[in-house]
Amino acid sequence: MPRVIKLSRRRLVLGAVGAGLVLVPAAGGWGAGQALRPTASPSLPAPPPSASFVDPSPSPAPPSLALPSQASPSSALASPVGWKLSDVPLFPPAPAPEPIVLPPGDQVPFLSRIPVTQPVAFLTIDDGYLKNPEAEKLFAAAHVPVTLFLTTDAIQDDPAYFDRLRSYGAVIEAHTISHPELAGRSYAFQQHQICDGADRLARWYGRRPVLFRPPFGDKDSTTLRAAKDCGMTAAFMWKETVNKGKVRYQEGRTVQPGDIILMHFRPAFVQDYLAALKAIHRAGLTPALLEDYIPEGGNR
Ligand SMILES: [Zn+2]
Repeated sequence: MPRVIKLSRRRLVLGAVGAGLVLVPAAGGWGAGQALRPTASPSLPAPPPSASFVDPSPSPAPPSLALPSQASPSSALASPVGWKLSDVPLFPPAPAPEPIVLPPGDQVPFLSRIPVTQPVAFLTIDDGYLKNPEAEKLFAAAHVPVTLFLTTDAIQDDPAYFDRLRSYGAVIEAHTISHPELAGRSYAFQQHQICDGADRLARWYGRRPVLFRPPFGDKDSTTLRAAKDCGMTAAFMWKETVNKGKVRYQEGRTVQPGDIILMHFRPAFVQDYLAALKAIHRAGLTPALLEDYIPEGGNR
């Protein structure tokens, strides 16, 4: 039987569209001063319709792709290129989140694993330099939560690409303006990179990030203080990295409950994403949304 995946537009509707915010590229592109304008006349392509994604393998005609109670017409995403739907692990729904208690103080905590009692792990994808068209299809097929720590200089040529990913469960968080090494730099420098990067993301996507990852995972106490002052609630490292389709573990040979997994928008995006999901699946874990575990991080 064909495998038909239908996804709701709930995040999209609750996001830019629902908030009445429309991304309007300026003539010169998405510069730092670019603002969202709460007007009509969208310049973006139509928001991704709820994806109806049909395995192209020969089989009886799929059931209707019409979406219930959606105003816009449905349209199917293009067929996968370089992967197939059966490559994508299937997960049970994530359990009810267990928000952690954050320590008080003038710095954000720096976390690489979330203390959890349930079998969950957290997938994060960084930077945004390469915008692989397969990402949207993979997200539609997997339908698991993911946090994107995006560098504004990396994504300014196509913020709409990442807005589409939001409609499949991705949440966008802060990863500076230009991806510099922060450790050892002045408070003013770090504050600019963190605060102004978050502000740009807020203008583009209608939601200001609350989580932060320093470039390269490098930080000093100034970083964590500036992040706090910039409205971030926590900063993150990782326990596993994925590159060229291979998962590398800091500890042991399996993803452990609460682990934060890092990959990037790189040429091997398809292989990396599938390797990350398979590693989570092999460990008997389910992807959960990082934001759901961080208090006051739920304002998405
Ligand atoms: Zn990075």
